[in-house]
This record gives sequence, C-alpha cells and structure tokens, in this order.
Amino acid sequence: MRRGFKAHAAREANSLRAALSISMSMPLTGIQLSKHLNVKVSSANQITQIPDEIRQQLWKADNESWSAFTISHPTKGKCVFYNPTHSRGRHESNVLHEMSHLICGHPPSKFISFENCDFSLRTCHPEQEQEADWLCGCLKLPRESLLWALHKGMTNQEIAAHFVTSLDMVQFRRNVTGVDKQLNRGRKTRK
Ligand SMILES: [Zn+2]
Repeated sequence: MRRGFKAHAAREANSLRAALSISMSMPLTGIQLSKHLNVKVSSANQITQIPDEIRQQLWKADNESWSAFTISHPTKGKCVFYNPTHSRGRHESNVLHEMSHLICGHPPSKFISFENCDFSLRTCHPEQEQEADWLCGCLKLPRESLLWALHKGMTNQEIAAHFVTSLDMVQFRRNVTGVDKQLNRGRKTRK
C-alpha cells in the first residue's frame, strides 16, 4: 500500500461518516454511502443483457469467484452490482468494497466487454484491491467505533451484528487498530 494510505483512509472514512451524520456508535451501510456518492446499487439479477452462457458461469459454476462489480454506463452513471447468491452480510462488505474503489479514484485496470452490450466491467490491480479492502474496513468499523463497543463490553458477535459486518472483519479490525492494547494500557493506569 502507498505510504500514508492507512492514515488517509481512516480520515476519509471518518469524514464520510460525519458528512452522512452517522455517529461512531451507528452502523454505516453500503446503501447509505452509495446514495451519498450518487452510485446505484443493484443485484446482478437486474442485468438482462448478460448472455446466457456467461450468466450460467457467473451464477452457478463460478459463483464463489466474484463478489460485486462496478459498471460505468455512458449515460446512466456508475452502478455497483452484487452477487445475489451471497448472504446479506457479504453483499454489505462487497458493496462497500466497490464504493471504496470509487472513493480512492481507482481507474479500472482492465475492461471486460460483452458482445452486444453497452457496458464494460472493471477489474483492479492487486495494490488497489488492498487499498479498497483497507478503506472498506475503516468505513465499516472505525477505530473509534471499536473502542465504543469494547467500552460497552460488547462481544465480537454483538459488534458484528450491531455494525452489520462479519466476525472476521471484527477480529481483523481489532488486530490492526491496536484497540485492545490501548484498552489494556488504560486499565493498567487506572489500577
Ligand atoms: Zn476490488
């Protein structure tokens, strides 16, 4: 990741929350963010132009291999389509991940075009994937939100349910933000 990106992502995520008037104790959803950024979000079932053989491949054979994608339409603007075969929790992270690419201003590194269709899919560089994943974590579970939840004595399950995210995301953010160390230090000083 670029030098300074992590700190930049945390600031960006917090300022987006502030712009949406969503406090650190409240969940931020992909839909709220998409409205703010003027991006449509839809199930990929809504795309009628995908040729049958590609649909079979994406919905059945390879349904675990993709999460969501963003289409830039020349007149209709940007739209994020999520994999309808995944759970709601996964849609949520997948949509936020796609939003993160847009917030970072990642240009599509490769276009996949379908014959007879007027749109292209974007794919990204590995470094851009890391950046989008990181920003997605900052949006979903800011450090301040984790501290708020842990001060209240919430378990990982309760945090995941409250912020509409996965247990893996809660554990990952606890590890990388160092909130547990901060809380332990606080407890030791109070003794
Ligand atoms: Zn991505």
